[in-house]
Amino acid sequence: MLESNIALSELASEARTELKSTFGVESTFVAAAPGRVNLIGEHIDYCDGFVLPLAIERYVVVAARPNDSQTARIVTTGEAPVEINLANEQKVGEPKWSNYLRGIIRGFQDLHYRLPGFDAAIISSVPLGAGLSSSAALECAFATLLEGLVDTVLPTADKALLAQKAEHDFAGVPCGIMDQFASAFGMKDQLILIDCRTGEPEMVPFSDPSLSIIVANTNVSHDLSDGGYGARRKDTKDGLALTGKESWRDVTMKDVYAAQEKMGDRIFRRSRHVVTEIARTIEAVEAFKSGDFSNIGALMEGSHRSLRDDFEVSCDELDLMVALAQEIGFEGGVLGARMTGGGFGGSTVTLCRSVDAEDIARRMHERYLAETDIEPLLFITRPAAGAHLA
Ligand code: ADP
Ligand code: MG
Repeated sequence: MLESNIALSELASEARTELKSTFGVESTFVAAAPGRVNLIGEHIDYCDGFVLPLAIERYVVVAARPNDSQTARIVTTGEAPVEINLANEQKVGEPKWSNYLRGIIRGFQDLHYRLPGFDAAIISSVPLGAGLSSSAALECAFATLLEGLVDTVLPTADKALLAQKAEHDFAGVPCGIMDQFASAFGMKDQLILIDCRTGEPEMVPFSDPSLSIIVANTNVSHDLSDGGYGARRKDTKDGLALTGKESWRDVTMKDVYAAQEKMGDRIFRRSRHVVTEIARTIEAVEAFKSGDFSNIGALMEGSHRSLRDDFEVSCDELDLMVALAQEIGFEGGVLGARMTGGGFGGSTVTLCRSVDAEDIARRMHERYLAETDIEPLLFITRPAAGAHLA
């Protein structure tokens, strides 16, 4: 379905109501953090490349109040409630979802903060497991709440890195820095260019109100074992070694062609994706900086094709969703479309004219449903604010 985004103020009031009905108390803190979508720069975060995500108008919101104990009691929609003894050094535990919280608490413990006991209620509008980083939104919202509870403000990059460490050590997901950086650094009307070689974020304006982004979740997931991701990382590592360079940032297509024979077909195509995707991302940033979007469609299409044919991480449903947007075309208000995230399912991202966005999303929804019999989830967004106390 085409879903409108629930306003942050409404989510905050839902979280407050939930806190009141579960624990009988009024909130003293409300923290919010957004999910994210990557506009371009895919599967190159672990290759010293660039990513260009934006925070989306979908949030995890936590309302909380100290409770004069050493225990955190936390509820969320659709999962078992959690009680955490804050006097203990946190370790991985049960239920599974609580590990995102335990990891963040551990991060504060490692920084020698003494956390007061508290009650908290979590509400979210970020679809879970759709490649839109509900996990990073949960981590960053919770870390922001803890900042409030101990009356401190961590440097934004430190908070994002603390959240990333929680995901690594407690959720067991060896993710790059994009998700937590996007959720922590997000700003209204700004894309976040992250140089994954230096870890430095830079804001890139997305201020023209006549442009919007459609996120389309295909609602399929084919990579259940997650073997595809690890295999791609290994391929790019092998590819880089065969070029003889230290970093993909120093590799040109000439170097890749020079190593083509040694690489063999698969590693050659993986390598070609990395080098060309880095170049496309740099060009896309130029387009946003200059306001000249004449090439953006070709860049997004090129990215999708490269992910499909060279990196082999797309799937029929992602290809279909992208094709449906491309068919509507520039005349219908579509500037560009591509798969986004790790692939094998998940979501696509479509850059479009704001006036046409609803119509485009409706048409994509209708035709995707007709062709696959799968109900997709589509919504329209613009760059949103990052983690903050509401
Ligand atoms: P993604 O980050 O792409 O949405 P992940 O598999 O990384 O997918 O993270 C999804 C997991 O994060 C869920 O299975 C759940 O454990 C946890 N999670 C995310 N949001 C919430 C929430 N609001 N309440 C409880 N758990 C959540
Ligand atoms: Mg995640």
